[in-house]
Amino acid sequence: MESGWILPDLSNEATRGFWDGCAEGELRIQTCSDCGATRMPPRPMCPRCRSVDYGWTAMSGEGRIWSFVVAHPPLLPAYAEIAPYPVVTVELLEDPMIRIVGGLVGGPGLDAASVDTKTIEIGDPVHVVFAKVEDVTIPRWTGAKWA
Ligand SMILES: [Zn+2]
Repeated sequence: MESGWILPDLSNEATRGFWDGCAEGELRIQTCSDCGATRMPPRPMCPRCRSVDYGWTAMSGEGRIWSFVVAHPPLLPAYAEIAPYPVVTVELLEDPMIRIVGGLVGGPGLDAASVDTKTIEIGDPVHVVFAKVEDVTIPRWTGAKWA
């Protein structure tokens, strides 16, 4: 049902740590080894100090909805099948400047249809859940409000 989705290139060295973390059930954020700055999306060089040395920091996976949309057609065919569906931008609890975009679902193993999109509000607390799509584990978001 989710075949045809646009999925990340798992061979990209700069982003691999993020996707490896998802596969292991952790939300890992790229962290500069020299100045300690976190950054998202992952990239080879620190935008603060230009260091190319980095590691990965596991986050709690807790955050708040910073913004959201409800996607409606026209969409690519694979996405049109599940529309309308909510997409949220989440600011992380540990670092609100780190924002991650993902689907909002009613809980682990559930899809977007499990969320009443009329109830979504900016500031709602959410936490990450992971879902396997083909060979990629992707982060999604859920909260007690939709359980
Ligand atoms: Zn740095």
